[in-house]
Amino acid sequence: MMVIIINSRYMHSRISVFRLCFLFFCFIIFASSAFARLQSEVEAFRLRPVPDSIFTLMQGRSYPQGCMVKRSDLRYVEVLHYDAQGRVKRGELVCHRSIAADLVSIFRELYKARYPIESMRLIDRYGADDERSMTANNTSAFNYRHIAGTSRLSNHSWGRAIDVNPLYNPLVARGGTVVQPRAGRRWANRSQKSPYRIVQGDLLYRLFRQHGFSWGGSWKKRKDYQHFEK
Ligand SMILES: [Zn+2]
Repeated sequence: MMVIIINSRYMHSRISVFRLCFLFFCFIIFASSAFARLQSEVEAFRLRPVPDSIFTLMQGRSYPQGCMVKRSDLRYVEVLHYDAQGRVKRGELVCHRSIAADLVSIFRELYKARYPIESMRLIDRYGADDERSMTANNTSAFNYRHIAGTSRLSNHSWGRAIDVNPLYNPLVARGGTVVQPRAGRRWANRSQKSPYRIVQGDLLYRLFRQHGFSWGGSWKKRKDYQHFEK
């Protein structure tokens, strides 16, 4: 089609065959590099069983001794995401196999829309310390741990929950006296704007809801604005 357009536009002109060949050559180079980029982007979104090197990293951290979740029930998910400065970053998550395909699909859509996510590294890279990971505004999923202040296992323990941009979407409990992470107190006030703020009805919210997740920001007693679970 490009050739037809070029031909019709320049048929009666005195542009040399050499110039046409050069233009065609440029078009081929452009098209093939665009295709290669698309191909590498498609391959960057994937899920697979937890590799040995990652499972070693998880030992004694997000996967402590006595962990009741089988390694074979977990998946290692890799995606691309944009941050608020428009930089493309590689993201990684460990989650339950039942939601791995959902997460790949959701984060592919978010990437297409350039939805900003600041960081998505395994919580093990923060010593499986939730407060540290949240303070770094790090998005994460699997972490075998109790709900803070209780003896109940969190849904993160089964890898069926994910916290997104947690610093700007903190957990707010006990009438606002408890905010996690502590550094996120400013954003407990939900009218405080930030590029990472999750709002009911925004793209992130809609995608998670479409995939059957519930949002902690809709909970009655405590509000966990970073949290989606299935
Ligand atoms: Zn959570």
